Amino acid sequence: MEPKYHRVLLKLSGEALAGPKKTGLDTATMLPICKSIQKCVNAGVQMGIVVGGGNFWRGRSSENMDRTRADHIGMLATTMNALAVADMLESLGLEVRVQTAISMQQIAEPYIRNRAISHLKKGRVVIFGCGTGSPFFSTDTAATLRAVEIEADILLKATMVDGVYDKDPHKYDDAVRYSRLTFSDVLGSALQVMDSTAASMCRDNKMPMLVFDLNRPENIYDAVMGEDIGTVVSE
Ligand code: UDP
Repeated sequence: MEPKYHRVLLKLSGEALAGPKKTGLDTATMLPICKSIQKCVNAGVQMGIVVGGGNFWRGRSSENMDRTRADHIGMLATTMNALAVADMLESLGLEVRVQTAISMQQIAEPYIRNRAISHLKKGRVVIFGCGTGSPFFSTDTAATLRAVEIEADILLKATMVDGVYDKDPHKYDDAVRYSRLTFSDVLGSALQVMDSTAASMCRDNKMPMLVFDLNRPENIYDAVMGEDIGTVVSE
């Protein structure tokens, strides 16, 4: 079967890599995620990945620390995750490049858009570290930015719930899942899908997004194949 999408940007939150401990990295949790990514690559899908850092550090939760400095630490956290995911994907036999928005050339390539696209075309997974490289942004915004820059067909946002609900499904039994939404719906409501900077950037650049559940890691593969999972958010 042909994949529905040929170039995607996958956003993995830091939390998704932490497993039950909710902090740091959990190999047993990461392995099925990486295997699902491998299946996508083997199906011919070009995979760009942005990883969060919340399993190590979140700038906005840093209490009294200067926010810019706290965000610098957060961006370093995303790079730790990028390197860990790269290592696991490589151990599965994939070719991977990590590119960081803040140069740290001893451990990763600097982010260069055309070079990233050239890697993707060669079947290499490209993992983007350091978010946007600027404080006061999130990795959701970084994922949107990279998706637009590499001209991805879709932004795949892997989360801990199986789509977008009208209220928190962990708290309310009668919560209803939306199968389709617009970014204007997201911006005009209290729906906790992504921050408004990321949502408006998706809307303004016509970048569709699929929000889906990573508790079932095979969903990454099902998403690129166009299976009916999660919630699609578009113009
Ligand atoms: N961050 C930043 N600029 C960016 C992306 C991330 O300063 O462009 C910092 C920010 O401190 C953030 C942290 O990196 O809290 C980790 O990213 P995020 O909270 O988005 O990670 P996630 O919640 O997806 O794991």
